[in-house]
Amino acid sequence: MNTHECIIIGSGPAGYTAAIYAARYGRKPLLFSGLLQGGQLTQTTDVDNYPGFPNGIQGEDLVQNMLAQALLFGTEVKHQMIVSVDTTDRPFKLTASDDAVYYAESVIIATGATAKYLGVTNEQKYLGMGVSACATCDGYFYRNKEVIVVGGGDTALEEAIFLANLASKVHLLVRKDHFRASAIIQDHLKGYSNVEIHYNTELEEVLGNDQFVEAAVVRDNVNNTISIMPIDGIFIAIGHTPNTEVFQSILEVDDIGYIKTIPGSTYTNVPGIFACGDVQDTKYRQAITAAGSGCMAAIDTERFLNNRAIKNGFYCVEVDSNGITVNQ
Ligand code: NDP
Repeated sequence: MNTHECIIIGSGPAGYTAAIYAARYGRKPLLFSGLLQGGQLTQTTDVDNYPGFPNGIQGEDLVQNMLAQALLFGTEVKHQMIVSVDTTDRPFKLTASDDAVYYAESVIIATGATAKYLGVTNEQKYLGMGVSACATCDGYFYRNKEVIVVGGGDTALEEAIFLANLASKVHLLVRKDHFRASAIIQDHLKGYSNVEIHYNTELEEVLGNDQFVEAAVVRDNVNNTISIMPIDGIFIAIGHTPNTEVFQSILEVDDIGYIKTIPGSTYTNVPGIFACGDVQDTKYRQAITAAGSGCMAAIDTERFLNNRAIKNGFYCVEVDSNGITVNQ
């Protein structure tokens, strides 16, 4: 049986950072990149807020640099998905999308989350050209401009507040006649006179030229009337789906499906399996925070691998009642 000390699943900033660190620890990590190599960053254009790039960098270039750095230190990359993880025995057994089976003493999950989109006409065409799912990433480009935010949950209201501090005007499109967001964020929103709330209103279509968004077709779903709103940018904030389908039967996840980690660490409830990046982050969801937690996962993994005990002829770990490795 060919057992890897560390298998990493996912190829965004979290996965690649974990790989760089694990490779530099000499663990020869095997990283499964999945089909969309590079994750969410490949869907964006300019990244201006990643430290170290004062002139900005294209999202695609940033992840290609991370990949090159991971390869440089000895990471092996396979362009496959992991379709199942069996934790009943150690080492863990992982099956890839080409049916190949791999064994791992530790697994770092960095499969990210996927922003939900509406599926309306031209939404994907203008992604990175006026349509975005991240105000923190792209809001800066809309200073003194007029934007739409779609959604009525906490994320949408937070995005609207963030944008209200930059944009001249924010139109918040809410499909119902009320918000889903918590009362405290709703209260906070009331302080922004440049946010106009459009209840019972849905985005129907994105309009633009060859390069950028110019307008939105919106529908009042009570009167069933359509209007065209000239606009500079559109932020879709209707939630994210963590990419955890494969792990939900083996790991503890929250109501939405995000992997639960022990606060301040990347430990999951299964010793030897770690989670980092957006797959366990409902709060920050930034490339730099994902990279930071990828580093944490590699450090946690290294400590775990160093602390293994040999029992009954094969590696296992000793854990306390909280699932934390204790055999220092
Ligand atoms: P939510 O699922 O809570 O809200 C999604 C919003 O988008 C809802 O208003 C929903 O409308 C709307 N929506 C969904 N699909 C469509 C559609 N097709 N067209 C128009 N509108 C649509 O997602 P969030 O990302 O806001 O929040 C996820 C979780 O993260 C929540 O638990 C939230 O509390 C938490 N969170 C907490 C924050 C904080 O505490 N600071 C910040 C951000 C998130 P409808 O209501 O009609 O279903």
